[in-house]
Amino acid sequence: MIIQQRLVHINTLIRRAEQQFARQPNAVTLLAVSKNQSAEKIREAFNAGQKCFGENYAQETLKKQALLSDLSIEWHFIGTIQSNKAKLIATHFDWVQSVNQFSIAEKLNHYRATFKTPLNICIEVNIDSSPTKSGVLVNDVLSLAKKIILLKNLRLRGLMIIPEKDNALNAFSQTQKLQERLIQLGIMLDTLSMGMSDDFEVAIESGSTMVRIGTAIFGERF
Ligand SMILES: *Cc1c(COP(=O)(O)O)cnc(C)c1O
Repeated sequence: MIIQQRLVHINTLIRRAEQQFARQPNAVTLLAVSKNQSAEKIREAFNAGQKCFGENYAQETLKKQALLSDLSIEWHFIGTIQSNKAKLIATHFDWVQSVNQFSIAEKLNHYRATFKTPLNICIEVNIDSSPTKSGVLVNDVLSLAKKIILLKNLRLRGLMIIPEKDNALNAFSQTQKLQERLIQLGIMLDTLSMGMSDDFEVAIESGSTMVRIGTAIFGERF
């Protein structure tokens, strides 16, 4: 019940922000980040209408998927990709938002070959050029994007960022500009995965199409 109420509340805020910032109605998708949350809680959220879930750990997700196989959930991988998990990730997710090197993209493409549908991909951008963060530097995004769009089992959808807390506003608008530049150069991107619990409304102002929210839906992680 609590999860359902939190979802209603967050969805209301998202719809309000879309309106306030002159975005199309339903332009923004809520990704419920369910890492370290139980299968029961995911089921509760699904029953309340939530369809897209984000996970950070491949093996943890597989265990939960086994318990939730009766639900048609859209699974997004948003964690660090270890190359020895590329097969699990390519075959158990619909989206991978944290691609940050070509060798990983090639492996995902390889293991996705048995599927009819391509794997949706976002490039994770280190928008703050932070030495402690993963992601591709802004200047390297175009060349990586050009190589990824040639991989036929992948479908490049957009950019994902995890900005520094004190620079989020600037990071959102930089990411939006980067997306616009890439589109001008012929790279079709329809997704900007940016904005979390504390800052999703500002992210929506800057063109976010997917906000990633965990504890505000599920409560503290176990
Ligand atoms: C955990 C996580 C989130 C959600 O964080 P909360 O604090 O639980 O809302 C969003 N994006 C990424 C990439 C994460 O790893």
